[in-house]
Amino acid sequence: MGTHSLVSALTEFEREMIEIRHDIHRHPEVGFEETRTAALVAERLRGWGLDVTEGVASTGVVATLKGKLPGQRAIGLRADLDALHIQEVPGRDYGSTVPGKMHACGHDGHTTMLLGAARYLVENPNFGGTVNFIFQPAEEGLGGGKRMVEEGLFERFPSDAVYGMHNAPGLPVGQFVTRTGPFMAASDTWMATFRGTGGHGGAGAHLATDATLSMAHFVLAIQTIVSRNVAAIDTAVVSVGSVRGGDPGSPNIIPSEIVVTGTARSYTPAIRDLIQKRLTDLAHAQAAAFGCSAEVHYDRRYPPLVNHAEQTAVAVAAASALVGADKVNPAAPMVTGSEDFSFMLEVRPGGMIMIGNGVAPDGSFHNVHTPGYDFNDSILTLGAAYWVQLVQTELGSAREAA
Ligand SMILES: [Zn+2]
Ligand SMILES: [Zn+2]
Repeated sequence: MGTHSLVSALTEFEREMIEIRHDIHRHPEVGFEETRTAALVAERLRGWGLDVTEGVASTGVVATLKGKLPGQRAIGLRADLDALHIQEVPGRDYGSTVPGKMHACGHDGHTTMLLGAARYLVENPNFGGTVNFIFQPAEEGLGGGKRMVEEGLFERFPSDAVYGMHNAPGLPVGQFVTRTGPFMAASDTWMATFRGTGGHGGAGAHLATDATLSMAHFVLAIQTIVSRNVAAIDTAVVSVGSVRGGDPGSPNIIPSEIVVTGTARSYTPAIRDLIQKRLTDLAHAQAAAFGCSAEVHYDRRYPPLVNHAEQTAVAVAAASALVGADKVNPAAPMVTGSEDFSFMLEVRPGGMIMIGNGVAPDGSFHNVHTPGYDFNDSILTLGAAYWVQLVQTELGSAREAA
């Protein structure tokens, strides 16, 4: 593979990007606590001459850059700032200095790649219109992307389209994957509470209504949601994560309350609605069957990540320009992970792409959210070049004139 000129140009910033990435990696901060990281990002951006707004959705940062060519369109490029509650493997010279926290999803790399692109575009503003560099807080479970949208991100920083990028462990360096339509799963959690009279399990069993029995039938019944309610060509996951009730020290007592919790993943709003409805109906029906009652809390956390066709084509074109079309899969399988970039895609057209984080010669790799994971420094220039290429594809003179 010949090195694309843009990737070569970004190599000028490689040492600086590695230094920034390691700095952020040493000082991981979890969701809505990214004060140091946000300050570092804002300071760099200001130093390069961008217009910077801090405190967007608490610890988020947004920087704006106008191109030197004529043009009215605007796009948002999004990275994420937060780390995870995971203890990193020892031995890295730039390893986490915070016990129990680490950048195990590569958000240190995502932030750095977007910074590298911002720096390049300040010096080479060969585009028309506006680029909004969005550094969002709290991607990992706390919905920082949702909060940014709710707090008026796109009213304050108008964007005709928005783009995201995540690293993919196991995908070779130099490759990209994406797909139009549903790409990543909706991630929901639920809790069902079964209540009966309870009673003495020996002498009084015939007088009790048994919440445990209702729960047991419910756990079996929800297996039919995927096998009998979701069509074979669609897909979903419903799993039980915990069951709590009774007292191990009192095996002769029928408890009056049992709580069962679980998760559900789906890829379309319709199947998401179906799972919530069937799960709730089955809880009430199985409770009623045994004289008990049920209460269900279904918590809609992250919606499915749905890529828009036009912007996904732009993302594929940008990646292909850098690495060649044979290294970009535009119809990749759906991923069971979830992402709160989905909240931004609910209100603006856009596309999420995945960049290969690499794979060892023996085929092994450390997946995200594991102690051995690390962002691959060797893709920093390619990732930054992707952002620059995307800006040129979206806001370049050719498109503006078209
Ligand atoms: Zn993650
Ligand atoms: Zn992530």
